[in-house]
Amino acid sequence: MKTIGILTSGGDSPGMNAVIRAVVRTALSQDMKVYGINYGYEGLIEGKFQEMNISSVSDILHKGGTILKTARSERFPTEEGRQKAYGMIKTFGLDGMVIIGGDGSYRGGLMLSKMGLTVMCIPGTIDNDLGYTDYTIGFDTAVNTVLGAISNIRDTSSSHQRTSVIEVMGRNCGDIALYAGLTGGAESILVPEKPVDINAVCRKVVQGINRGKLHSIIVKAEGVDLGTQELADIIQERTGQETKIVVLGYVQRGGSPTARDRMLASKMGYKAARLLMYEPESKAIGISGGEIIAYNLEDALEMNREFDDTALEIVDILSK
Ligand code: ADP
Repeated sequence: MKTIGILTSGGDSPGMNAVIRAVVRTALSQDMKVYGINYGYEGLIEGKFQEMNISSVSDILHKGGTILKTARSERFPTEEGRQKAYGMIKTFGLDGMVIIGGDGSYRGGLMLSKMGLTVMCIPGTIDNDLGYTDYTIGFDTAVNTVLGAISNIRDTSSSHQRTSVIEVMGRNCGDIALYAGLTGGAESILVPEKPVDINAVCRKVVQGINRGKLHSIIVKAEGVDLGTQELADIIQERTGQETKIVVLGYVQRGGSPTARDRMLASKMGYKAARLLMYEPESKAIGISGGEIIAYNLEDALEMNREFDDTALEIVDILSK
């Protein structure tokens, strides 16, 4: 019988619970023993293990957050912290582990893999910032949350004839801004991957006013190298239209996962548990061209994300 552990680490994302459910139930169906580890790498160091059964993951598929809780651990990246963590892995007899998180959590997973443990990393982050996979789990839900907010803000900003600058999450990746902005009909989208063209942004607003538009929506990713208030001040000063900012913040990290995120979570969790049983070699699980993939873990971390330039061009053409 094989024994595996599962933990969630770093920032949480909608769909993490759906992954936990998929991993636990697939592993149990293969007669594996599964320990849930609470509070990410911090809990691994402290031995916060609990054995999971079929009903440990009942009624969680639709819930945001993570039943295993998550944490950032300052001790884990140190040699001493990692040795302690590895000691716990031995103590509980783990043959492998599933780690759900973002880039930082993957780097931690790679360390454990180099110490001799088989690790399956699953992308649980709203940021969509991992280069080897087309999508991460939680991204679609976050985009839909932002889209809902854009629709609401559009109603009120039309009534008041104002410009709204909406700041969204994504760390150094502009995908949330790009997808939500495109699908929400934003006039301009600012992402960290591209330089800010303030003239173009203001031109769009002025042209809109001249054509009788009641509002303009500008979606700005948090990673852009220009403050949101600063941007709004420039727009208001140059265009003369009242410009308000909305910083969406943590609402984007919660909520019930969309069907798309649940699908990704279920397929990736299933894949990870199957690989741990039948092909135990450390991997990064992802999706590419619609196919679930298992990529070499170290290589996955080296891959840069390609920005979708065409989508940005489409925004420019469609938001006249
Ligand atoms: P995310 O996984 O969402 O990117 P973090 O970057 O905060 O979140 O990483 C989560 C945890 O992973 C950190 O608190 C730390 O314990 C561990 N970690 C991050 N980077 C490394 C690294 N380079 N080496 C080892 N562990 C790391």
